[in-house]
Amino acid sequence: DQLREARTALDTPLFAGLPGDIRVSFEFFPPKTDALMAQLWDVVETLAPLQPEFVSVTYGAGGSTRDRTHDTVARIIREARLPAAAHLTCVDASKAEIRAVAEAYWEAGVRHIVALRGDMGAPGVPFTPHPDGYANAAELVAGLKTIAPFDISVAAYPESHPDSPSQDADIDNLKRKLDAGAARAISQFFFEPETFFRYQDKLAAAGIDAPVLPGILPVSNFAQTRKFAAACGAALPAWMESLFAGLDTHPASRQLVAATVSAEFCRRLYAGGVRDFHFYTLNRAELSYAICHLLGRRPKDAAGLENAA
Ligand code: FAD
Repeated sequence: DQLREARTALDTPLFAGLPGDIRVSFEFFPPKTDALMAQLWDVVETLAPLQPEFVSVTYGAGGSTRDRTHDTVARIIREARLPAAAHLTCVDASKAEIRAVAEAYWEAGVRHIVALRGDMGAPGVPFTPHPDGYANAAELVAGLKTIAPFDISVAAYPESHPDSPSQDADIDNLKRKLDAGAARAISQFFFEPETFFRYQDKLAAAGIDAPVLPGILPVSNFAQTRKFAAACGAALPAWMESLFAGLDTHPASRQLVAATVSAEFCRRLYAGGVRDFHFYTLNRAELSYAICHLLGRRPKDAAGLENAA
């Protein structure tokens, strides 16, 4: 515990002079309309100069966004020239259908897939595999590897997946996904840095040395965050509830509080040694951009100018 305290020490300089030695990635969801696509494009263009390691585009429940995910990823690769990963789930799809989707990704230049089991459409309905499909993400990873030499990421759960009988079982499952050929994992979001540090310790004890990128949900809409957290079993700390209490009718102040909370969260992760940050952007640029900026990450040209000055 002493070590952990040291890792998050609050005497780490308050953003001053952080060298920007971080790797970032940004997650988007596929927009439903042309107008929303135009908005996403602004976001992509704002974030692209930060030179993310990759960006990724989610796959709607039950494959509902199959074509939109494909089109969005393909456009990002073609026009923004960013390495873009496509998410893919096992829900409601036979192995042959998954093969067709994966082959179309490969043809479009997609080399990185975030391979997931997925959830059934309605909340709370237990996952039932398609009779000719993959039963879980580990099987999907193995299947994808027989289709093309994709770079594969999988999901990890610092607070365990709600279907897991225990954290050890959950970590065993992550191990199966990595053993099946995944190169890294991206974590579910969480709101206490210590949750991630404890998870890192458990992964190390289990002999997992593949990178596990913390998933950062920059909280801007607290009511929405409460819903997301309930759906995936992430603990929402009481202090956060109380920080946002009374701000419903003060949207501008709420935004400032939100930005402060997210920035402080990332600073403490950084102080604890984290250098990879995967942002759940919710198709908005400003909070992720601001956090990257505070952590010292600047567009290449801007950094050059600053150094020159
Ligand atoms: P799995 O790794 O297969 O595990 C699910 C559960 O089943 C775990 O509890 C595991 O322990 C258990 N399990 C698996 N195999 C076995 C076995 N052989 N025996 C016993 N237990 C087993 N959802 C979407 O619909 N679209 C997305 O684009 C999307 N993107 C995501 C991105 C990230 C980074 C994360 C963290 C989640 C994402 N999700 C997405 C949500 C995800 O689909 C759900 O969390 C889903 O319930 C589990 O998917 P998984 O890939 O983690 O499943």
